[in-house]
Amino acid sequence: MGICLHCGSAFPRTRRTRKYCTNRCKTNACLERKPRLRASEIEELRELLMRDFESIDGLRERLRAIIAPHLPPIPVDEGRAAIPRMD
Ligand SMILES: [Zn+2]
Repeated sequence: MGICLHCGSAFPRTRRTRKYCTNRCKTNACLERKPRLRASEIEELRELLMRDFESIDGLRERLRAIIAPHLPPIPVDEGRAAIPRMD
């Protein structure tokens, strides 16, 4: 028996399926794999190293935009983290 690397269930090990119990698990495991950074993104990160930032939040927001564009932006106001007012 083998243990599926995706869902963890036991399955009979054959020559065709060594890591995953079903083709569906193989596909899902592939889809969920973290994407690698593209060359252009690595170039942007390299530029970040050379740049000066007024605050760590400005840097965090630039990093977020490059490596996690799907996440909501970190609010930055004039280089500093924007603190929501309570009024
Ligand atoms: Zn599985």
